[in-house]
Amino acid sequence: MSDRTRALLRFHVRRYGQYKENELAQLSKESERAARAHGLVERASQRRALNVSKKSELIRSVKGTRDLLPPETSLWQRVEDEARRVFAAYHFQEIRTPVLELTALFARSVGEDTDIVMKEMYSFQDRDEESLTLRPEATASVVRAYIEHSLYNQGGIHKLYYLGPMFRRERPQKGRYRQFYQIGAEVLGSDHPVIDAEVMEMLVLFLERVGVREFALLINSVGCPRCRQEYLKVLRKALESVKTNLCGDCRRRAETNPLRVLDCKVEADQPVIEKLPRILEHLCPECRQHFDRVTGELNQRGIPHQITPRLVRGLDYYTRTTFEVTSGALGAQNAVLGGGRYDGLSEMIGGPPTPGFGFSIGQDRLVLAVEQAGHLKPREALAAYVAWLGEAALAPAQNLVRELRRGGWSVEIGYEPMKLKKSLGIANKLQARFAIIIGEGELAGGRYQVKDMSTGAQEPVEPARIASYLKEKLGAIV
Ligand SMILES: [Zn+2]
Ligand SMILES: [Zn+2]
Repeated sequence: MSDRTRALLRFHVRRYGQYKENELAQLSKESERAARAHGLVERASQRRALNVSKKSELIRSVKGTRDLLPPETSLWQRVEDEARRVFAAYHFQEIRTPVLELTALFARSVGEDTDIVMKEMYSFQDRDEESLTLRPEATASVVRAYIEHSLYNQGGIHKLYYLGPMFRRERPQKGRYRQFYQIGAEVLGSDHPVIDAEVMEMLVLFLERVGVREFALLINSVGCPRCRQEYLKVLRKALESVKTNLCGDCRRRAETNPLRVLDCKVEADQPVIEKLPRILEHLCPECRQHFDRVTGELNQRGIPHQITPRLVRGLDYYTRTTFEVTSGALGAQNAVLGGGRYDGLSEMIGGPPTPGFGFSIGQDRLVLAVEQAGHLKPREALAAYVAWLGEAALAPAQNLVRELRRGGWSVEIGYEPMKLKKSLGIANKLQARFAIIIGEGELAGGRYQVKDMSTGAQEPVEPARIASYLKEKLGAIV
């Protein structure tokens, strides 16, 4: 195909989308062949998908995704607020990266031989033929942004956190979603072992703040490329003699990625895997020293942890420290968060050497654990419902509502005239903490009735004093 043809086809696709079958007649034979060969012609099935159905069929959400509705969203917000507060106390700042990235970013960093890259990514050809992927995780994106904006030129350490949706096409099962949410953070620019311990300390504080107290911190070292090579030789050799006793996946991994054998969950394999050589016994002196300092720092901070030699995590970019937190509330196999050190990741994606350490929290699973713990409650949505009786009360009621809202209180008012009983019914249904009643008598007396909806007690309060009255009763703004 000539450059000119290619340029013309690309221009058309960028501007108008893919070619429709009936547009092909206007093209030269060469262009038509090229358009078909490069997948630029809309397939009939695609056209059907794009057409708005003529029937009034119910359109549902995409398989594996879900809607989060109130009041549950309020609990999600509270978890996010606690994360922001705790991370800020440790001087982390927020970074927001796009959900779309070039596919190569993940293929190179997460690893081409991992389940994520091989089976689970949402990748597609963009209209200009570039391969794009909905991010399956965010560490690679954060490091990409760090390099792209030359943050390393500013010197020092960068501490960045993120919140948001990630996408993996996993088999649908309970508690697993194809659009799921992560809260994570990265420290870039230092390989000091105290960073590893300090970040774990921060996570322990965060879990405490959201009320998750039943958890275990598991920690391991996967060494550096130098000592891991040595260990892999020893591991391969050990696997040679026992791999016939292992499951099919393990036999395959023994060849392609022997470290992943340690991840196997098949019951019958466990006694064999337990006897395999352990990476902690093959660390080079530098990696050993790093690991001992991290565990020493954890001890000094009184943070209980379990050294777990089989904890290797599934991603290619990890070096030295790896860790996970499992929550009893979710069953032993369920990690609620995990992370580790990735000192070579920046170079993998074309950046300067930049040591890094980070983690990500599975927010969907964390919220489940938070719900079970029952410590953090959804916010009380409504502070007051204003019930007005008779047209004369409408304007004063609206004034009061406006003033309270300007003061930050969550307040609701009915838009149609109603009897008192009906108004109070609505206040009850909306779970308002107070109902404020304004009728003829209240207008004449200059004081409105403020009714506590949980006790039924009510007292007259001057309109100008109602905001401070709510504050007295409810404490801070809810
Ligand atoms: Zn090493
Ligand atoms: Zn196995």
